[in-house]
Amino acid sequence: MDCHEFVNLMSSYVDGDLALDRAAEWQQHFQHCPECGQFFKSFQSSRDMLRFLKKKPCPIEITKRLHSLVLGQLTRRKEQPAGEGSKSD
Ligand SMILES: [Zn+2]
Repeated sequence: MDCHEFVNLMSSYVDGDLALDRAAEWQQHFQHCPECGQFFKSFQSSRDMLRFLKKKPCPIEITKRLHSLVLGQLTRRKEQPAGEGSKSD
């Protein structure tokens, strides 16, 4: 299994939709690939947050606040000068 496949199967794995042998392959990749391990962690925490938001009725004020928070972060990131000449790929 490669990283691309790992990411594709992530939500199925979390939902318990993967066949046992696929789930075992998935776990193997997770254990041996630090990058995917890290990605999975952030995936889980954003998922937990979504679950939390779904559980509670989300008042429009909170939605607005979250929205502006996210927008603020995006804008701040854009304002920062990009690394000069260093292409990561
Ligand atoms: Zn990987």
